[in-house]
Amino acid sequence: MTNPIGAKVIAQALHDLGVTVIFGLVGLPVTDIAEQAIDLGIRFIGFRNEQACSYAATAYGYLTGKPGVCLLVGGPGVIHGMAGIANASANAWPTFFLAGSSETSLWTKGGFQEMDAISLLTPHTKRAIRPHVHSADAIVSAIHDAYRICWFGRPGPTFVDLPTDFIMTPVKSMANCRRRPVLALPRPCATSDTISAAVELLKNAKAPLVIIGKGAAYARAEQPIRALIDGTKLPFLPTPMGKGVVPDSHALNTSSARSVALREADVILLLGARLNWILHFAASPKYKKDVKIIQLDISPEELGRSNSTGEPALSIFGDIGTVIAQLNEALRGWKAFSTANQDSTPPYLQAIRASGQKNESKASAAANAPTRPSHPLTFERAFHIIKSTLHSISAPSNGEVVYIGEGSQTMDISRSIFPLEHPRQKLDAGTYATMGVGLAYCVAAWSAYNLPRKTKKIVALEGDSALGFAAMEIETMRRHEMDVLIFCMNNSGIYSGDTADAADWKAKQQRLLSSSGTSERRDRLKSSSLMHEARYEQLAEMVGGRGIFVRSEEELEAATREGYKEGRVTVVNVIIEPGSDKNISFAWVEKKMEAKM
Ligand code: ADP
Ligand code: MG
Repeated sequence: MTNPIGAKVIAQALHDLGVTVIFGLVGLPVTDIAEQAIDLGIRFIGFRNEQACSYAATAYGYLTGKPGVCLLVGGPGVIHGMAGIANASANAWPTFFLAGSSETSLWTKGGFQEMDAISLLTPHTKRAIRPHVHSADAIVSAIHDAYRICWFGRPGPTFVDLPTDFIMTPVKSMANCRRRPVLALPRPCATSDTISAAVELLKNAKAPLVIIGKGAAYARAEQPIRALIDGTKLPFLPTPMGKGVVPDSHALNTSSARSVALREADVILLLGARLNWILHFAASPKYKKDVKIIQLDISPEELGRSNSTGEPALSIFGDIGTVIAQLNEALRGWKAFSTANQDSTPPYLQAIRASGQKNESKASAAANAPTRPSHPLTFERAFHIIKSTLHSISAPSNGEVVYIGEGSQTMDISRSIFPLEHPRQKLDAGTYATMGVGLAYCVAAWSAYNLPRKTKKIVALEGDSALGFAAMEIETMRRHEMDVLIFCMNNSGIYSGDTADAADWKAKQQRLLSSSGTSERRDRLKSSSLMHEARYEQLAEMVGGRGIFVRSEEELEAATREGYKEGRVTVVNVIIEPGSDKNISFAWVEKKMEAKM
């Protein structure tokens, strides 16, 4: 009997690592790897574009807490997949990329899809390896190493380059080709003096705040963090993807008073979040100049990062779950604000409450304002209807719905409208603010939650622009029988859209195309305009899914109800009122983020 070809060795190595799902797009020379993997019982999810495929693998890593695996062809496949590699790096999500490459004997001669992927990817990955091509042992070692490295420490992307000659040729010897799975993920605890120092800082705080980032969600630290908040009564603020680690409905959630909570805090316990743009670099005037930050992270390199506010007060290296359990032990019986006069609410909490109530009533006014006669729905009203309908079918506390949200307005406005009671139930554009991840994330979330057994409904809130980046993945969903419910929030453009009137749109288009090009800005199509009221629901119909076109409140409610129960991919195309002509600024986004959570 001849020895198996390299493709079999590679698939077996992945199987031995416990890989159950591969996100990929096949072509020469990696098709055999995919086929061998399928033979071993691994679910291979074939995409239509490597970009979406690579994004899906990153989100799968985040949602499952284990590396997502992505299989690509070399050259252009790797170039398209760079999107996911950068996304895994920016978000710190464990993702293992494997790609074929041209035959070694043809390197530098212009071989098929030849590219030096290692030079390209080394700066963007935790490790990029081209193993020795004639040694099955070396290839298996490289696969095990890359899988472990993307996962241990701060997660991120790793890459293994697989030359055609290895994939296609029978291996010389199978000796040393089988390995044990990688050991359990290390979860380091903190030193006792850092725990004491943290306790000291928290006990002396007048305005303490816990910030919960997506690192805490990734670390599955919800149980000790909930115990910390309930035990100490410390107010908390989740970042967009840290939502649900502690339920949004919790009384100590300061989301609706985000800027007051950040600006007035004197001690911040930072759990799994970086002090980057999402947290305004912890800089004054968004923060107090002398705010003391207790930073907890699995990445030693992240700790002590200085910012314009000054040095972080305390760095704790460790795993969030392990360290918070230690902290709970050390804080046992202590309550925040307990030294203040029991009869009056401390000024910090008063300020948070006042600002929160103001923002909440503004948000509720927008959500409850009925649609104006003969006007399309607003984002706020549409989200309110989708949310209330979904809540009438499935209580949020059951956690049956996982949300994906992207598109500038769609994401920012929906973020504050859909409360989350469970962690890892909302994916959005993330640290890289990437548009075009949504449909890939739907496939990832569906796979993470519904394989091998269906547990959750995946609901995507997509802007019409965002949907377009990877619309063909609707075919992927249908092929794999993923019953994703996609709302396309269609305001005929990027940001605030263009015009609500078809004839007006046509006239503007003509003026844009006319040779003069001198028309006033408001009289021609904007750079952010898209086709007027495109029929995106037909993308689902094209593959035998369900498409629903919606203009009114009643139609939206019925479509939500039916779409939730539908057993196949469904696109609900919701016509939304185009907004005003104002430019979307960071200040605008912040204001939206501050609406009621
Ligand atoms: P957010 O987008 O919520 O602000 P970031 O992606 O900026 O969050 O930060 C997440 C942080 O969590 C990263 O610095 C990462 O190193 C850290 N992290 C990931 N896993 C763990 C863990 N198990 N324990 C502690 N920190 C972790
Ligand atoms: Mg739009």
